[in-house]
Amino acid sequence: MVVGLTGGIGSGKTTVAKMFQELGIAVFVADVEAKKLMKTSIEIHQELKALFGEEVMQNNGLPDRKFIASKVFNDKDLLEKLNQVIHPRVADYFSKWKKKQCSSYIIYEAAIIFEKNLQHRFDHTIIVTAPKSEKIKRVISRDHSTKEEVEARMNNQWTDNDKIKLADFQIENLDLKLTKTKVLQLHKHLLSLVNA
Ligand code: ATP
Repeated sequence: MVVGLTGGIGSGKTTVAKMFQELGIAVFVADVEAKKLMKTSIEIHQELKALFGEEVMQNNGLPDRKFIASKVFNDKDLLEKLNQVIHPRVADYFSKWKKKQCSSYIIYEAAIIFEKNLQHRFDHTIIVTAPKSEKIKRVISRDHSTKEEVEARMNNQWTDNDKIKLADFQIENLDLKLTKTKVLQLHKHLLSLVNA
């Protein structure tokens, strides 16, 4: 059973994913794996060069993430093309990774699931939510970004309300102790679904 875990920037999805991990559940963090593949995949390097030109590669043989970010920042088409280079590779890697796991179910964590209409790939979906003001506060203190930067990133994502309608389960993440209790309850429920 594969469970998709998502949530807006600063909602706490990585925090929640770690709580599931502590319960013995294998977690695949799409962003982290995408970053690793960007470093190691020769095919990705070649496609990045085709998309952005030779200057996308640094002298150390790694793609220049800042250069890429600056190019796609205000160019939705180019961002889509970049996603077309990265996402199929992450999906391939996930399929291989999945076969090696032996936990009762597995979690796939990604910031964007519903926005890309990927929910059908999962047996169940969880959305982690928190009030907007709280999310902004957390990201400012974690990344040392400005309120405007966080809001600009939020504007690329759907609102919690839009996603809650599509998700199977919601975890409101405010008080961490309470979140842990909710994770444990949901974990037990998911186990009962695996064993049903
Ligand atoms: P992003 O999409 O930006 O990667 P995220 O949804 O994965 O964010 P986290 O990285 O888990 O969110 O959390 C954002 C920050 O808020 C982290 O510094 C984390 O420690 C903190 N945080 C998470 N949950 C809570 C909470 N309930 N109370 C206070 N701080 C929290």
